[in-house]
Amino acid sequence: MQGINIMATQRTLSIIKPDATRRNLTGQINAMFEGAGLRIIATRRLQLTQAQAEAFYAVHAERPFFKDLVSFMVSGPVVAQVLEGEDAVLKNREIMGATDPKKADAGTIRAAFAESIEANSVHGSDAPEAAAEEIGFFFAGIDITG
Ligand code: ATP
Ligand code: MG
Repeated sequence: MQGINIMATQRTLSIIKPDATRRNLTGQINAMFEGAGLRIIATRRLQLTQAQAEAFYAVHAERPFFKDLVSFMVSGPVVAQVLEGEDAVLKNREIMGATDPKKADAGTIRAAFAESIEANSVHGSDAPEAAAEEIGFFFAGIDITG
C-alpha cells in the first residue's frame, strides 16, 4: 500500500501564549502535543501587535474581557503553530483542557500550567473552519511542511 495514506488527518492552529513563553514552557507544552500524537508541522515565534491581537480575537470584541485579553496577548512573545494529526482540532482541545484552569482535567496543559482563566497558556482552534482561517492568519502555504 505504499504511497496510500488512509489516515483522516486534520490541522489546527495552536498558540503558546505569553504567560507560557515567559516561564520558558514551550518545550514542555510541545512535548505534550507530541506525546498525544500531534505533529508540529509549522512553528513561528513572534510578538503580536495590538492590531493583530484585536484582529485574531475579533469574535470576542464585544466580550467584557476583550481589552484585557488583547493586552495580555501583546505582553510578550507567542509561538503560533500548526498541529497535524487524526481529529487534530478536538484532540488539541482535549490536550489543552478547559478555558478556566480550575475546571481543566488533570493531565491537561491548562491544569498543569495556566495561571488564570485569561493567562491560560495555550490557544486552540475550536472547529475545522476556524482552524483553516486561523492557520491562514499566521502562515503561508509555503511555510507548512506536513
Ligand atoms: P482559546 O480561544 O484561547 O483557545 P477558549 O476557546 O478555551 O480559548 P474562549 O471562550 O475562546 O476560550 O476565550 C478566548 C480567551 O479569552 C481564553 O482562552 C482566555 O484567554 C480569555 N478568556 C475567556 N473567558 C474569559 C474570562 N471570563 N475572563 C478573562 N479572560 C477570559
Ligand atoms: Mg476560543
